[in-house]
Amino acid sequence: LENYDVAVIGGGVIGSSIAYSLAKRGKRVVVLERDRIGCQASSAAAGMLAVQAEMQEGGPLFELARQSRSMFPRLAEELKELTGIDIGLVNKGMLLPALTISQVEHLHALIASHKSAGESCEWWSTEEVIRHEPKLSNALLGAMFIPGDGQVLAPKLTQAFAKSAIMLGAEIKEYTQVHGIQCSQHAVVGVHTNQGDIMCDQVVVAAGVWSHGILQSMNLPLTVFPVKGECFAVIDHAPLLQATVFTDGCYLVPKRGGRLVIGATVQEHTFDKRVSAGGIATLMERATQLLPDIAKAEWDKAWTGLRPQTPDGIPYLGRVDDIEGMYLATGHYRNGILLSPITGEIMADLVEGRSTIDLDLSAFHVARIA
Ligand SMILES: Cc1cc2nc3c(=O)[nH]c(=O)nc-3n(C[C@H](O)[C@H](O)[C@H](O)COP(=O)(O)OP(=O)(O)OC[C@H]3O[C@@H](n4cnc5c(N)ncnc54)[C@H](O)[C@@H]3O)c2cc1C
Repeated sequence: LENYDVAVIGGGVIGSSIAYSLAKRGKRVVVLERDRIGCQASSAAAGMLAVQAEMQEGGPLFELARQSRSMFPRLAEELKELTGIDIGLVNKGMLLPALTISQVEHLHALIASHKSAGESCEWWSTEEVIRHEPKLSNALLGAMFIPGDGQVLAPKLTQAFAKSAIMLGAEIKEYTQVHGIQCSQHAVVGVHTNQGDIMCDQVVVAAGVWSHGILQSMNLPLTVFPVKGECFAVIDHAPLLQATVFTDGCYLVPKRGGRLVIGATVQEHTFDKRVSAGGIATLMERATQLLPDIAKAEWDKAWTGLRPQTPDGIPYLGRVDDIEGMYLATGHYRNGILLSPITGEIMADLVEGRSTIDLDLSAFHVARIA
């Protein structure tokens, strides 16, 4: 039987990042991925590193996200050096436009609160917005500009984590589905897979929305549920935008080669991954209101992904009480790309029983709900 220190279940961005962090620390680690590395939510993601645009300042996720965002510049270099993969880190900032007077007021309050938390951001008038981003609608009433919220190519990041882990000695087994975790005397001893049993001392469940089934098979009263998101992309050879544009109902993320990703719808509790015409129509309407030229751009494609969500909206990052050697890392919802670097380090810390990350992790404890 094959024997490892740690088996990671799921080869999305989270499992791959954890494998990378563990391999860096010399652990014998295997990633068990049912299908292909990064084939689910992690490749559907728009790749935004939206700390200030998405998080409530002061909430438990904010500090986690802020620290994770700050890890990207060095991480991009490390991954490039190990694998040659460029994760496409772009730091051209994020714009939160206002379409109504009440949004203007809301954004002004947000700017004040972010500034008092020491984060940089500023208000741009309509003229300033158009000067920087001439293709945006001049019906906008101004925008909050966040210079620090960048973006990456999510599929590349996942591949780069996985390949770097391999370079550092990890094994990745694709087409290997975990059917159950094997315990003896309330301690993990291995996992059952469709390719046979694998022995390990520790197991980290990072199976995205499918973590729920694994938790159920262990009789753990924890919930992870899917929130489907639909996206589409267009191509325009004269790039439509420099910065990412972010609103409540829609975001626009400019990628290489004139590609623009437009996302995303939000639909809870469905595993149906089909793209709906209505979902795309809604997004198109919101997007063209911000950037009318999208209507003239070339259609690229549409896709969906399932975001893993928890009942209180905070990811599970921790050990499972009562089962020695079992850990959970999922529920990153809309921010798994952003939170992947710090999640890898936190989980490697837990597995090693030390703490290199200066952060209070109690909000993320698995037992908080159970
Ligand atoms: C449309 C959309 C846009 C998004 N945009 C962003 C964004 O801009 N920024 C951001 O930070 N986040 C974004 N997200 C969120 C982000 O994609 C997720 O939080 C993140 O990808 C979750 O990663 P994961 O590894 O937990 O899950 P997944 O990527 O779903 O990976 C889980 C893996 O586990 C495997 N698996 C499942 N069950 C088993 C089993 N029994 N045995 C073995 N393997 C198994 C699956 O095949 C899968 O590959 C977006 C999500 C969506 C859907």
